[in-house]
Amino acid sequence: MSDTIRAIILDVRDHKENDAMIKALTYDHGLLTFIAKGTKKMTSKNAIALMPYSISDITYDHKETKDIFTLYKAELYKSYYQEDISILAGMSLIAKLTLSTIDKENKELLYKEVVKALDNTKDHDIKLIVTIFIAFISRLLGFEAYVEGCVVCDVKKVVSFSSLKGGFLCLEHLGDEKVMTPDILRQLRYIFKATQGDIDILERYDIDEKVYHLVAEHLYTHTDLDKRAYDFFKMTF
Ligand SMILES: [Zn+2]
Repeated sequence: MSDTIRAIILDVRDHKENDAMIKALTYDHGLLTFIAKGTKKMTSKNAIALMPYSISDITYDHKETKDIFTLYKAELYKSYYQEDISILAGMSLIAKLTLSTIDKENKELLYKEVVKALDNTKDHDIKLIVTIFIAFISRLLGFEAYVEGCVVCDVKKVVSFSSLKGGFLCLEHLGDEKVMTPDILRQLRYIFKATQGDIDILERYDIDEKVYHLVAEHLYTHTDLDKRAYDFFKMTF
């Protein structure tokens, strides 16, 4: 019996001689892996639908007992491809973070946020999109930065942020960190709580480079996620 499902294409690789293995995120079933046979001979219509970061309707044979499914047909719903290396590297980073974070509990939330992130690539700054996504992933993995007060003593008057300690610091607990401006601290608080839906508001703040760096550092300090896709993304600017 065949089924059709809307899916975000996250990863496409060659498989055997003529096939492709596709990892895609779906709202109902989370991450699904498809084998598309004979992709080299595939019609261009199917091929576009299976480009990374497309959202497509995939017809496949659904069997509850299987992990990998045979793909029959793919029809493009929305393409996000842009000839911009920073945007492509940013979408690749978002895809990789999604692949390492997805589980049964967070699949709906993650799906909705990835769709919004892809939509935002059309008319928003990729650096901001990626940083909001990184903050979102930190929260999803349970490594939310503490931005309500000092992470050590909870005093509300804070002067810095430490990725290592995972939150704001008061003057007494500053340690080796440098004092930051109230503006930077405000930007950090907004970004750490933001989702893609807040991008219009955040764009008005002219986010400082330092903030982008600290949010990413926070994620990679507290998880064992592979940082290479982020390093590559940074190199494209
Ligand atoms: Zn303190």
